[in-house]
Amino acid sequence: MTSLTLDTHLGAVDALEFGPRSSQIDLVLCIQGKSPNTDVVTEWHPLARLLQDKSIRVVVPNLHSNERTRPGTISQEDFDRLVLGALTQLKVKTLLCLCGKSWGGGRCVAFLAEHPTAATSLMLIAPSLKETTAGMVSDVAQKRTLLAWAWDDTVVPIAAAQPLLEAFGHPGGDDVPGTASAAPSTVEHGLLTWITVDVGDHRIVPEYLPALVKWVTPAPPPCKMCAKLAALPADCASLGDAGLQAAAAAARASAGVLWEDSFWLVMHKRPPCGVVGHLQLISKRHFQGPSTFSNAEATIFGVTLRRCERALEQATGCDRVYTAALGSPKSGGHFHAHMMPVFDDKPPEEVTGTPFDIFLQEKLAADGVEGAAADEAECARVAEAWRFAMHDPRGPPNLP
Ligand SMILES: [Zn+2]
Repeated sequence: MTSLTLDTHLGAVDALEFGPRSSQIDLVLCIQGKSPNTDVVTEWHPLARLLQDKSIRVVVPNLHSNERTRPGTISQEDFDRLVLGALTQLKVKTLLCLCGKSWGGGRCVAFLAEHPTAATSLMLIAPSLKETTAGMVSDVAQKRTLLAWAWDDTVVPIAAAQPLLEAFGHPGGDDVPGTASAAPSTVEHGLLTWITVDVGDHRIVPEYLPALVKWVTPAPPPCKMCAKLAALPADCASLGDAGLQAAAAAARASAGVLWEDSFWLVMHKRPPCGVVGHLQLISKRHFQGPSTFSNAEATIFGVTLRRCERALEQATGCDRVYTAALGSPKSGGHFHAHMMPVFDDKPPEEVTGTPFDIFLQEKLAADGVEGAAADEAECARVAEAWRFAMHDPRGPPNLP
């Protein structure tokens, strides 16, 4: 956490900055409630610290640090100018999230209605909506929004949430105070996440924090392997039409699918490829490794691997097949088994002098080492021979 001065059109405003100081990192901006009391001025700090731990950058201005920007005094127009100026100073076009508590919540709603591209999401804790219009509320209902409130809030009673809930199409009525349970209740309704606690008064209570952190933190990048599978032509196996099924199978084959069933599919390693006949048995479902196989996957995997590797021996005439399955973070943590044909009379280029050298041929090819890349036509020929062996009714047999 470091101190920061926002150079606003109304003069300097003190702020605290949490997390990495880089304009490349997603920024969250938190706007306080109206009171100058320290517990209100610092009320966003616990959330800011937790987001900092997730490598998210958070800026919390203290609008009471300048007479002209004090909550309750500053006009909406000046507030908007101040926020836009802060974004320019912080070199950010769009906030990951704009957060407002009470007075700050009302200001954030009005700001985002006017400047919808300034933030991708909006977090409101017991916002004071006295000065916001129905039009503003329906404008922000186009935005991913989190709304949190305590049933016993005496400063801004929870009934004030109704226009916002209605703007998001939330039916309301079902949510009634419970029996002073400490656990928050969370309802997802389209773009709205609606969190309530029985007891919390007009505060950002610690019980909110885990849900707030989870909601703000961006989803991890999608798995590369899942994206690769999703990009294949559609699989029409579930359709009854034989013509459609055949057309789909042909389209998937031309996209590199050599064989598949409901759980697995097999493809030859794409260029750069270091080993002719390097096949990958890829799970259709996303999971990291055998410890998270479903019962069906666990049951069928051994038989599938046996069939695939027998076909690889048959197609290549290799002496044996080496198998490795890592599910590394680099691949998206998606299970796939590498099947490598090994020839005793054609040992791999030595890298470590161990049997692992067969796998390291891929590293040499990826690094562009001269002569390391396998011949593409040869890879295609072996892939076709393997496909034939898998589909040939005479072999490879599923025999003991
Ligand atoms: Zn995946």
